[in-house]
Amino acid sequence: MRIFTNARTIIDLYKDYRSMDNEDRQDFYQSKCDYYQNYVEISLVAGVLISITYIISDYLLNGSFLPTLIPRFSVLPALAVFLIVTRFFKGRKMSVFMDFLLAHCIVLATIWAIYHLEDKIHASEGFIIMNIVFMTVGFVARPRETFFSSLIFIAEILISNSFNHYSNLDIILALQIPLMVAVFISHGLLMLFYLDHYRTRQELELAMVTDPLTQVYNRHLLEKIVTKNALKDVDGPVAIAMLDIDYFKQVNDEHGHYTGDLTLLYMGQKLAKGTHEDDYVIRYGGEEFIIILKNCDVNNACARMEQFRQDIENAKDTPVPFTISVGVSRYNGDFSKSIQNVDNALYKAKNGGRNRVVVV
Ligand code: GH3
Ligand code: MG
Ligand code: MG
Repeated sequence: MRIFTNARTIIDLYKDYRSMDNEDRQDFYQSKCDYYQNYVEISLVAGVLISITYIISDYLLNGSFLPTLIPRFSVLPALAVFLIVTRFFKGRKMSVFMDFLLAHCIVLATIWAIYHLEDKIHASEGFIIMNIVFMTVGFVARPRETFFSSLIFIAEILISNSFNHYSNLDIILALQIPLMVAVFISHGLLMLFYLDHYRTRQELELAMVTDPLTQVYNRHLLEKIVTKNALKDVDGPVAIAMLDIDYFKQVNDEHGHYTGDLTLLYMGQKLAKGTHEDDYVIRYGGEEFIIILKNCDVNNACARMEQFRQDIENAKDTPVPFTISVGVSRYNGDFSKSIQNVDNALYKAKNGGRNRVVVV
């Protein structure tokens, strides 16, 4: 039955959510915020403008626009501050803080307007409507932020009762509390379903940068790790190596394309196992791989590549015996130039008779 399938999906997503570490969770909330913040901002602007139109219902109650004119329009300066701050300060925490701040400014303006209403019996409807605003902001907030904001909202109602003297505070709270719980549950569900979307996106992003045959990275990774022709997140020396299988065309011709594929897979797996966690192994072209060796000077890179070359030459578990040529160069801050250098080094290794490591 569909309801059981949905319940199982929700339980699985909740388990996934609970299993995330702090860093993962920060990234998840950032992604959710990036995705929904524009929607929240537009909705809040609409919410502010719509809240001003309530001077019409105020008129119906008071018979005059004047008493609530200033309270209703007081949301406009708050909106101006919101627009300025969110334009200059980015980041999830600031966005969420400003979203909630504006939402609570709408509540405060409403409380102020209620103060000037002769008949306060409809305050309950006013507060119910405010939940729409909090429903919206919850799209970017964490559950505990929504919870905290709900407590503030209740406090605003209780404190304002001391001067507004709501004629039906019991009804206001009786309606308000279940509504807040509903908003909270709805946000929890939204968060879990966004997690589903987030995971799918992560899988797609990983598939985009993964070579399907060898399971190492493909060239698309370079779009992520190189900006303005420089490697991101570099501290310490970095070396680049370019490896190319010798006479690979012959492997294909003599043993078939399938054996050629197995050889590439062997090479990819061996490289992935033989490198450090923060190194990048990239299938650069057909039978050409690049390794970006982090925290590794060029001498160390040469020694590691020479060891790798010998391991391949002497390996007994390869689909067919083969050798590799390797070019190595220091990353000098200019990525294209460094790649040119490793390419030259590889060219020299090939010209020098193959099955060797050359540094440029
Ligand atoms: P060299 O020693 O100069 O590098 O010679 P080579 O034969 O290795 O180089 P060449 O560039 O002439 O040939 C590369 C071959 O790699 C040609 C192409 O068919 C093969 N190749 C490229 N991609 C794949 C693949 O995904 N699978 C298989 N089986 N072969 C591939
Ligand atoms: Mg080759
Ligand atoms: Mg080649």
